[in-house]
Amino acid sequence: EIPQTTYKRVLLKISGEALMGDQGYGLHPPTVERIAREIKSVHDMGVEICMVIGGGNIFRGLAGSAQGMERTTADYMGMLATVMNALAMQSSLEELGVFTRVISAIRMDEVAEPYIRRRAVRHLEKKRVCIFAAGTGNPYFTTDTASALRANEMACEALFMGKNGTDGVYDSDPRTNPNAKRYDSVSYDDVLVKNLKVMDASAIALSRDNNLPIIVFPLDEPGGFRGILAGQGTYTKVG
Ligand code: UDP
Repeated sequence: EIPQTTYKRVLLKISGEALMGDQGYGLHPPTVERIAREIKSVHDMGVEICMVIGGGNIFRGLAGSAQGMERTTADYMGMLATVMNALAMQSSLEELGVFTRVISAIRMDEVAEPYIRRRAVRHLEKKRVCIFAAGTGNPYFTTDTASALRANEMACEALFMGKNGTDGVYDSDPRTNPNAKRYDSVSYDDVLVKNLKVMDASAIALSRDNNLPIIVFPLDEPGGFRGILAGQGTYTKVG
C-alpha cells in the first residue's frame, strides 16, 4: 500500500559523498542503487521529483585551488564531477523503470540535455525525474545554491536535503557535543546568524528570499525519503 502525501513537486539534494558508500571516494554502485530505490518509492506516490547531486566524492573546486590550481578551472572540474554522479543516478533509476532526464547547466549535448526551464517543467509534468547536473554552471557557487535555484525555478514546494549520519539540524555538532539539541524547526535567519550547518549562506539566502522551505532529513534511514513525504520520521524544517 502506498502512503499518501500532500507534496506534488519536490527537489531532493544529496551530496556527492552520499554516493560513495564506505569507500571514501568515487561511486559505490550498491549505494547509488539504494538511493535510487528511495527515489522510486517517492515517484510511486505520484510526486514530481527534481534532483541535484553534488560532486564532492570526486572533486571539489576549493580543494583543487588549495593545491595551487586556478580556482575557476577547479570549479569547472567540480561541476563536471556532478555530471558523472548525475549519469550514475540516471542509470540506476532507469534500471528500476523510472524515466529520467539529466539536464546540464553546461552544454554537452551528447551527454545531457541543456537546461531550458520550460522543457524541464514539461518533463516533470510527464513524471520524468529531472536530475540537474553541473550545478549552476558558474564557478564560486555550490550545488547547494544550485538546488535552491532549481527548486525555485521549478516551483517546488520544498527542498529536501538528504543527509548521511544526521537526522536534522542541531544547535552544535552532535558528534562532539552529547548535549547538542536538534531543532524541529528553525528560521533561515537563525541558520545564518548561528552559522548552523545546513547549506551554504547563499543557498539559505536564496531560499529565504523566496520562502522555500528546506527539510533536512536522514537519507541513510531506509524508507526515509518516502516517510518524510508522508509526514513521518524525524527532520528539521528550515523556513
Ligand atoms: N561547483 C561550482 N558551481 C556550482 C556547483 C558546483 O563551481 O554551481 C563546483 C565547486 O567547485 C564544488 C564542486 O563543483 O566544490 C562540487 O560541488 P559541491 O561541493 O557542492 O558538492 P557536494 O559537497 O554537495 O558533494
